[in-house]
Amino acid sequence: MADYEAFKNEVLSSARWLCDNGFFGAKLGSGGNVSLYMRAENLIVITPSRKPYHKLSINDICVIDPQLNLIEGHLPPSMESAMHAGVYKSRSDVKAVVHTHQMFASVLAVIKQPIPALFDEITYEIGAEVAVIPYALSGSAALVDNVVSGLQNGCRCYIIQNHGALCLGADLAEAMHNAELLEKTAQAYFYALCSGREISRLPDDAVQRLLSMRKQS
Ligand SMILES: [Zn+2]
Repeated sequence: MADYEAFKNEVLSSARWLCDNGFFGAKLGSGGNVSLYMRAENLIVITPSRKPYHKLSINDICVIDPQLNLIEGHLPPSMESAMHAGVYKSRSDVKAVVHTHQMFASVLAVIKQPIPALFDEITYEIGAEVAVIPYALSGSAALVDNVVSGLQNGCRCYIIQNHGALCLGADLAEAMHNAELLEKTAQAYFYALCSGREISRLPDDAVQRLLSMRKQS
């Protein structure tokens, strides 16, 4: 049996942190999922399906190949495994995927509201606009198609209509940080929309500057 313990530990500790901090919507549930792509091995380490996060142990974490065959593990992998595999296939800059049901991104998911560029650090870290990926049933091939089609703008976060969020990173720490940044900007934007006042967006030249700095880093 191959030794993927370090990668499994990283996935487990990240999933627990996200769960404990409310990013999965229910602290006692199994919603949301976390994965890491081991590019050298061409394998994906991913949380299992339907087991509550507070009961997960390292032996429950799955290792699958890009065709979703189970390489290691005794539980079925996340029902969104095909979505994670689709992200890794279409975005070579991504090595970690965090799919959350976080609150304020979920609010924007039910009003189908993309987030424009509002803050320097978030535009730099995430991209110019957090787009809304059209709804399809959880775990369906249609949802994978919608996600893969939506990834081409190079952004690091997406809202999934009537579902939650998808946060990407060059590693798991970055994907989780992007989930935090997304929640901050979604919350600020929602409250700003509720105020009925004019929304102040970043000037276009500032957005272009931030995006070019991001490409150079
Ligand atoms: Zn979900």
